[in-house]
Amino acid sequence: MGRIRILSDAVANQIAAGEVVERPASVVKELLENSLDAGANALRLEVEAGGRRLIRLADDGCGMMRDDALLAFERHATSKLSDVKDLASIATLGFRGEALPSIASVSRLVLETKTGEEQIGTRVELAGGKILKCEDAVLAPGTVITVRDLFYNVPARKKFLRSEQTETAHIASLVTHYSLAHPDKAFSLRHNRAELLSVTPAATLRERVFQVFGGQTLEELIDLGDPARELKLPAGDKESSERRFRLRGFVSGPQVQKLNRNSIYLFVNGRLIRDRLLLHAISSAYHNLIPPACYPFALLFLECDAEEVDVNVHPAKTEVRFHHGPLVHDFVRDAIRQALMDQRPAPRLAPPTPPQPAAVLPYSEFTQRMENLRLDGAAGGYAEAPPDPAALPEFALRPRPSPAPRLDFSDPAASASAPRLAVPDTHGPLAAGSFAPEPESLEALKDLRPLGQIHDSFIIAAGRDGLWIIDQHVAHERILFEQVLAARSNGGVASQRLLVPAILSLTAAQQLEYARIAGELHALGFETEPFGNRTIALKAAPAGLAAADLEKVVVEILEISESRMRRATLDDLRRAMAASIACRAAIKIHMRLEPAKMDWLLRSLAASSCPMSCPHGRPIALRYATRDILKSFHRI
Ligand code: ADP
Ligand code: MG
Repeated sequence: MGRIRILSDAVANQIAAGEVVERPASVVKELLENSLDAGANALRLEVEAGGRRLIRLADDGCGMMRDDALLAFERHATSKLSDVKDLASIATLGFRGEALPSIASVSRLVLETKTGEEQIGTRVELAGGKILKCEDAVLAPGTVITVRDLFYNVPARKKFLRSEQTETAHIASLVTHYSLAHPDKAFSLRHNRAELLSVTPAATLRERVFQVFGGQTLEELIDLGDPARELKLPAGDKESSERRFRLRGFVSGPQVQKLNRNSIYLFVNGRLIRDRLLLHAISSAYHNLIPPACYPFALLFLECDAEEVDVNVHPAKTEVRFHHGPLVHDFVRDAIRQALMDQRPAPRLAPPTPPQPAAVLPYSEFTQRMENLRLDGAAGGYAEAPPDPAALPEFALRPRPSPAPRLDFSDPAASASAPRLAVPDTHGPLAAGSFAPEPESLEALKDLRPLGQIHDSFIIAAGRDGLWIIDQHVAHERILFEQVLAARSNGGVASQRLLVPAILSLTAAQQLEYARIAGELHALGFETEPFGNRTIALKAAPAGLAAADLEKVVVEILEISESRMRRATLDDLRRAMAASIACRAAIKIHMRLEPAKMDWLLRSLAASSCPMSCPHGRPIALRYATRDILKSFHRI
């Protein structure tokens, strides 16, 4: 007897589930898409235990007749596609007819549905893909799908699920995304009975952005324009009419710099996607406007003829392939760049720098870097208007508490930065190996004599072994970072009350993150309290932080926590939070310092335990060794 057998449907469905249902959020995605395809106007999602225990989506869409309700659980059963030709022009979100049977095969599922025309609805109950019951039910028009005990029969998959917190964050982010794509529909999300998101139908995308992100974010965004920006392609050999691509949405100005891509929302023909081509187009639009490791906020909707894009690339339908990839890439890049340019008042536009011959490259690089630094400012802590030097944060002026905290540099952030510590980038402002401080010269930091500043940003100092240039912002950042951590471990964080509490509105994901790290925020001197739905009141903050920076610091901390720290230790999180506080409270660049202040800064830096790189890994000091000076003057 031969050994090859056709797999049973049950096995085939579980295999398909492996691709389609990776985690609870994948179930949510499929259910949301089905409800949207069914023309629903209100989508109510309820989740328990990060979606493992319960996912229930109720919609007011077209519902299903009894026969369809049963057929929906057959593999490749779909009402959205009948012919292979249709694949080339898919207008619905679903088309594979795989989601419901896949989800049903790895959970206990109940489908309750009724069409507008029928008097009585249908209730179907399944477990592990098997239909247990199908009965009449008195229901309102629409569909409710309840998925319980996800992966109960696939222990291997269950093991890979992350914490309840992580899974909920994925779900929250997904619902947020879909609510942005469909401003005219109502969405709500409850987790363990707490409301995480609830938006009523909005007239415009702008209004929906306000509902989801709040007024502060909206103010920072640039509307790509209404009408949408367009790209027209002349008709090719095969096409009869010209092809159009339309792009609309919002992007942030260069002052918004995110640490990860979580704030980039991409939709192609209403479908949420992750696409490398488009991500690259966005990064190129911001090239030289924001630092390379930072990301903007972007909410982009690209619309094109269904034939222009292949959505059948991935079972979860999150990847697409454009037929005119390079054209789409450049269109998106140029549309964003143009919007950014339009936004800038004309006088602030810098004339393009002519290409420099190699010999003078260091200087042009230098000016470029200065420019980057300035732009870096918004998120990196450099205020636009330099604050009064006399108003230096008070706790910064107090002597460092002793004993000095021993910093553990085994954490990934610190070790990643270590190599940059000794070799400050060969393309650096004054590219020469001689500028890399050798370890023994750290000793020389102790008796540096400040001579002045360049650009009101870098302290020039004479040392026993040469000439030093110290970046005043990152130097102070390092000092404060160590102080904050030391104060945190002694329980002696200095906190100051705000006259009026600051009210911060959070996204659903930030709200979850907040719940997780509220204790740590408190220990670092932030006194916060939940204040209504997705809002917190900030009543006190670490001393030294300017009122204008408070909201940014808290949001930055929540973002750091969300992106990098989910799996990291509390200690890593604490360091990242301290780095964020230090960065905001530190002396800015473009700020004149009195000689006494420079002196104080250099002495405090020398006393810090890692004076050569800031908590984010940037170099603090460059040195031009006496020996190299002598060599350059041909004295040796
Ligand atoms: P697909 O969405 O790819 O067609 P699914 O397995 O997700 O496949 O769904 C199968 C079919 O069940 C759909 O084609 C649709 O006809 C029906 N269906 C699923 N969810 C809903 C819903 N919420 N309302 C109405 N019909 C639905
Ligand atoms: Mg579907």
